[in-house]
Amino acid sequence: MQAEIDALLALQSDDLRIREIEDQIKALDPQLAALDARRGKASEALARAQAAVQTEEKKKRELEGRLAQHKQMQERNLHALDDVKRMREATAATAQVDTTKRLMAEDESELQILGRRLSDLNATVDASSKGLADIEKEQEATRPDIEAKRAALQEELGGARKERDGRSSGVSRPMLSKYDRIRSKRPMALYPLQGGSCGNCDTAIPLQRRNMMSGGGQIEVCEACGVLLYSGA
Ligand SMILES: [Zn+2]
Repeated sequence: MQAEIDALLALQSDDLRIREIEDQIKALDPQLAALDARRGKASEALARAQAAVQTEEKKKRELEGRLAQHKQMQERNLHALDDVKRMREATAATAQVDTTKRLMAEDESELQILGRRLSDLNATVDASSKGLADIEKEQEATRPDIEAKRAALQEELGGARKERDGRSSGVSRPMLSKYDRIRSKRPMALYPLQGGSCGNCDTAIPLQRRNMMSGGGQIEVCEACGVLLYSGA
């Protein structure tokens, strides 16, 4: 029976080591997530700036089209003014020329405002794209470092699990399933008796059960906290 206690103790030390490696791997996740978040934010800023430029450029194209129409209209107006003979028609044609001239001036002033806004927005695109490039360059150094750490830990974990599996054959199947069930709820399943009490919760164990443990090397379950107990003496 002592052999089974030893096997369980070895198993437990493997399990503690496995948990420790798993915790170390988990600790890397937030680091990678933080890198992703920073990069994502920069790339969203760039996309927003680019979309704003596209919107304004579309407006600019429309405005340029309108100005071209007004110019054509003005050419026709000026021809019409050349052609008219009578005074009343000439007045109407002159008014038409003036109206179109005003429309063209409006178009041009709007185009100027739009041009300034576009150059501001293009500067924002340049700055965002530089910001993103900086972050990517910085992460080119950090990311492989974290990935390498993770790969090394994964390998260590694989080895530890293999070792653990090899060891579990030294424990009887019912005891192994009892141990696994208890361990799924707490970090450790197996504790030594300490001065006649449970090594985990300190509840006193009746003498008769204690004798079975110390005499026969039996493993008992603590009725108070549910861990496995063995006599270390
Ligand atoms: Zn206990």
